[in-house]
Amino acid sequence: MTVKTILSAKGGDVISIEPTATLEIAVKTLAKHRIGALLVLGPDRRVIGILSERDIVRVLGEQGADVLAQPLAQVMTRNVVICGQTETVGTIMERMTAGKFRHVPVVEQDQVVGIISIGDVVKHRLQEMEKESAALRDYIQTA
Ligand code: AMP
Repeated sequence: MTVKTILSAKGGDVISIEPTATLEIAVKTLAKHRIGALLVLGPDRRVIGILSERDIVRVLGEQGADVLAQPLAQVMTRNVVICGQTETVGTIMERMTAGKFRHVPVVEQDQVVGIISIGDVVKHRLQEMEKESAALRDYIQTA
């Protein structure tokens, strides 16, 4: 199963934010959309960072609530690990495990075409396992 299979089921909508927005706006955006990470896009819509709830919790713990008025660019992760649509879900799982993160943007020709979360990966892996076990049950019954 490829990344494209997941995107065709969930769509390519990605909630993004500008690097100059404050952390307070980022918190409100995460809450409004009930998501765990925001892609930070530059003026040309290229990925320049990612900001996850973990980054916000860490900086709040280190600096206190005043940091919410600061631009999120100071806090986001700049080295974003991405993937392409033709990559397998297994490869993305390995990438998430190795990097200890739960979100991977899907990029084609420098433009974002979607985002895969660990929830998407688990959901599709479970569906795959259910199909496999149903096929095995059928095979055993007809054997
Ligand atoms: P997450 O588990 O995705 O909420 O993020 C955990 C940490 O990894 C945070 O510091 C994020 O900014 C960072 N992070 C999340 N996704 C990525 C990614 N695709 N590439 C690099 N860092 C990421």
